[in-house]
Amino acid sequence: MSKPRLDGKVAIVTGGASGIGEAAARLFASSGATVVIADIHDALGEAVAASAGCTYMRCDVTDEEQVEATVGAVVGAHGRLDVMLSNAGVLLPTGSVMDMDLAELDRVMAVNFRGAAACVKHAARAMVVPRNGARGGAIVCTASVASLQGGFGPASYTASKHALLGLVRAAAGELGRHGVRVNCVSPSGVATPMSCALMGVGPEELEAMTVLHNVLRGKVLRAEDVAEAALFLASEQAGFISGHNLVVDGATTAINPAVL
Ligand code: NAD
Repeated sequence: MSKPRLDGKVAIVTGGASGIGEAAARLFASSGATVVIADIHDALGEAVAASAGCTYMRCDVTDEEQVEATVGAVVGAHGRLDVMLSNAGVLLPTGSVMDMDLAELDRVMAVNFRGAAACVKHAARAMVVPRNGARGGAIVCTASVASLQGGFGPASYTASKHALLGLVRAAAGELGRHGVRVNCVSPSGVATPMSCALMGVGPEELEAMTVLHNVLRGKVLRAEDVAEAALFLASEQAGFISGHNLVVDGATTAINPAVL
């Protein structure tokens, strides 16, 4: 099977300044796409964009007007939007359920769910407009194994990712008639600034910890592996795949942990 390509496609990657989004922006660009990184971390975003052949736009996904303006600017500059990777996310230590800080819960939902909803909404609006006689596109949301089970982070994070999966399934159902596919990619732990901050360790230490616990013994999940899954979902090779949650977890959620 040939590698998925995005030649001639225009893509937005939110949260593309770091971690999984950075890996995806680099991979999408090297796979032929024109990539716009949309993030709030300007210095990192500019640096990644410069080294990956992408462009950077500041966009806080919690502000719908900024999301709409970013999509509008991309369509204005490139004439189209083919791929939206809605990947920006946060994981905040909101505490156990009984002590949950509800203001922090709102902040998590504002990025992981409401922000993704704004990206899906405005990407879909751009994609249903006919271009060169055709219309459609691919929306991929970075969810998490926390979209399927509890125990992979605070309840606020789990709830936000469950909600995101629901949104993706509903959007896939609505948008299919317009040629827009909507899917999730759901990784388990990757050593990125987000997960390292949660665990209070550096990337090497985190990888050394996870390699001992992974079902696929001796292997670690890297941001690049998740980017490959997102690329597949964004590409024509996944042309009949929509409403799917592509879990990239080395069987973590497939098995009964008691057998390990
Ligand atoms: P990361 O912290 O390295 O990257 C997150 C990026 O999102 C950063 O560049 C940040 O500036 C950006 N961002 C945060 N808030 C934003 C906002 N309001 N608007 C625009 N950009 C914003 O983290 P990561 O691990 O690469 O996470 C990427 C996605 O992957 C997230 O949705 C996360 O929930 C998901 N995920 C991560 C893991 C993991 O173990 N790292 C596992 C499963 C899912």
